[in-house]
Amino acid sequence: ARQFFVGGNFKMNGTIDSIKEIVNNLNKATCDSNTEVVIAPPALYLLLTREHLRKGIEVAAQNVFDKPNGAFTGEISVAQLKDSNITWTVLGHSERRVILQESNSFVANKTKAALDGGIGVILCCGETLEQREADKTMDVVLAQLKAVADVQKDWSKIVVAYEPVWAIGTGKVATNEQAQEVHKGIREWLGKELGQEAKDKTRIIYGGSVSEKNCKDLAKQEDIDGFLVGGASLKPAFVDIINAKA
Ligand code: 13P
Repeated sequence: ARQFFVGGNFKMNGTIDSIKEIVNNLNKATCDSNTEVVIAPPALYLLLTREHLRKGIEVAAQNVFDKPNGAFTGEISVAQLKDSNITWTVLGHSERRVILQESNSFVANKTKAALDGGIGVILCCGETLEQREADKTMDVVLAQLKAVADVQKDWSKIVVAYEPVWAIGTGKVATNEQAQEVHKGIREWLGKELGQEAKDKTRIIYGGSVSEKNCKDLAKQEDIDGFLVGGASLKPAFVDIINAKA
């Protein structure tokens, strides 16, 4: 069985004080020991988070660059994450794909660089409303994933996060059926593209308006192996989402 995985993506939110409060709450919380938990604060607070957070919960960056070092103003390297005991990174979030115009191949190169350097990757994919309405959902999602598969065959340290853009921050969660259908399609594709082991073992998590109210039913879907949580990860309700399977 695949271990349930819940990530908290704080995006560009928080202060020293508010992040310390979130961390203190998590430190005190009773979390399902069967769930792998990872939180992703803004880069500036990664060290603070790692320092205060209890062992057993991992910390992720929200992005990382694909070059080892040098004249890349504003970027952070894989080695710098490692040096700071940051063990995961989010990559390919739709806010970076859409607002910062990251291409599929750029996301793929960064994924490879992170994995080569020993950092796990929460690899995001997902379609816009326009693409869904044009029946392009699977084409878009699989093209995003194919770019990664072209440069990276070992997906054992990749968690795929399916995040339909229209569901992110909108309160408009995908239905259980909509999410399950895409997750199943991704899993079948993993089998064809990368083989049986990738199909059986890769965690595919859902993101987009996940709340303490909708998480339990989503978690019952066969191919939903966890969540990537935005807004609710900043609130005490995050613990209920971590415990969705308990
Ligand atoms: P919300 O949970 O705020 O919709 O955000 C989802 C997301 O983008 C997580 O990466």
